Amino acid sequence: MKTSALPCLLAAICVLPLPALAGRSAAHVHGVASLQVAIDGGTLTLQFETPLANLLGFEHAPRSEKQKQAVRLMADRLRQAGAVFTPSPAARCSAISVELESPLLQPSPQSGDDAHADLDGSFVFRCQDPAALRDLEVGLFASFPRLQRIDVQVAGPRGQSAARLSPQQRRVSW
Ligand SMILES: [Zn+2]
Repeated sequence: MKTSALPCLLAAICVLPLPALAGRSAAHVHGVASLQVAIDGGTLTLQFETPLANLLGFEHAPRSEKQKQAVRLMADRLRQAGAVFTPSPAARCSAISVELESPLLQPSPQSGDDAHADLDGSFVFRCQDPAALRDLEVGLFASFPRLQRIDVQVAGPRGQSAARLSPQQRRVSW
């Protein structure tokens, strides 16, 4: 399994290619999210996909100032990748880019009243000691209590594996 080379090493302003790993889209089930973990040399790429209900409790365009603020807070929290995902400390990884995509993050969010909507997040870390990269702790459950389960797929130097994370089991190892 290969991921495409990242076209940028500078944080913040860069456009990531469509992930080679993305493949099928996960089913939209409230309470459940998916996370694809790809390790390619010193680059750790996380593709997170979730119904917005897991993060916000709603999926329609925000109607009140309170809902607009909830969307902003959600995005701010996810953009702090290092606070949400903790790769093995010995691998000395740092987040180099975060990209969030969702209808609710458009300049003028539009969605029908009963439409479902997702959020896709791409998180890229650069690790100084990739040999020490053996696990990942996922801190999303504490920030987003509606999230009950994350189905994880790992593709790395030791092959592919799958795991299921929950508020009680927040660490995936490989
Ligand atoms: Zn939904």
